[in-house]
Amino acid sequence: MGRPNIDIDMGHFQRLLEAKRAAIRARESEIRHQALEELAPEQVGEISGARLHQADLGSDEQEIDILGTLSEQNIRVLHEIDDALERIDDGTYGRCLSCMGTIGIRRLEVMPEKPLCQLCEHRAEQESDTELAPA
Ligand SMILES: [Zn+2]
Repeated sequence: MGRPNIDIDMGHFQRLLEAKRAAIRARESEIRHQALEELAPEQVGEISGARLHQADLGSDEQEIDILGTLSEQNIRVLHEIDDALERIDDGTYGRCLSCMGTIGIRRLEVMPEKPLCQLCEHRAEQESDTELAPA
């Protein structure tokens, strides 16, 4: 509470965040739409046993996997954007959630949704790398 607000243009970053959120949602629905169109001929209509070749199934599964990965990434970014918009409301936007230092304005211009400064994110990445590494 006692901390002074960060001297950045909150409105500017709010617009950046909202534009990014809209772009991700648009791209996401476009990807889903394309995927449905591609999958439809396989799945709609009478599926005769002859059509269900192993190779066909394999390629469909692969497509769905790629889509799943994309969506997961986008969902995470959308969460980060929502959190960042909340911090704009709180007046804490631009401050690193971990070390409470200010996040560089150039970093925010490129990735306005990031909750951590470069140093803390680097450290967090290293920690999650060790967590993910096989024991
Ligand atoms: Zn930090």
